[in-house]
Amino acid sequence: MTERAPEQTLAEQAPSSYECRACGYVYDPTKGDSNRNVPGGTLYKDLPDDWRCPVCSAPKIQFINIGAVNAPSGFQENLTYGLGVNRMTPAQKNLLIFSALGLGFLFFLSLYGLN
Ligand SMILES: [Zn+2]
Repeated sequence: MTERAPEQTLAEQAPSSYECRACGYVYDPTKGDSNRNVPGGTLYKDLPDDWRCPVCSAPKIQFINIGAVNAPSGFQENLTYGLGVNRMTPAQKNLLIFSALGLGFLFFLSLYGLN
């Protein structure tokens, strides 16, 4: 049985956030930018070319892809479907879920380490 690492799946499926290299502001595509009437769910690549950092007004080109930092809630549990968890006891399921959450947390920490 082959298992994919949870952090790989998160990076593949959740939209990427972008960080302003000038001030550290992070554009979260799930939230959008209320200051400039950008609705939640707008991907960074779909932002208008004249969009600027709401904090320091840096142009779009100053932003770097920092990957998915806010996976939708409940996503970790959905991940386990199809991996044979239906045959597991509730205790085993809990262990698996907490392990996945722990891996996800480590992944978030590793993102900060990249900066
Ligand atoms: Zn900025």
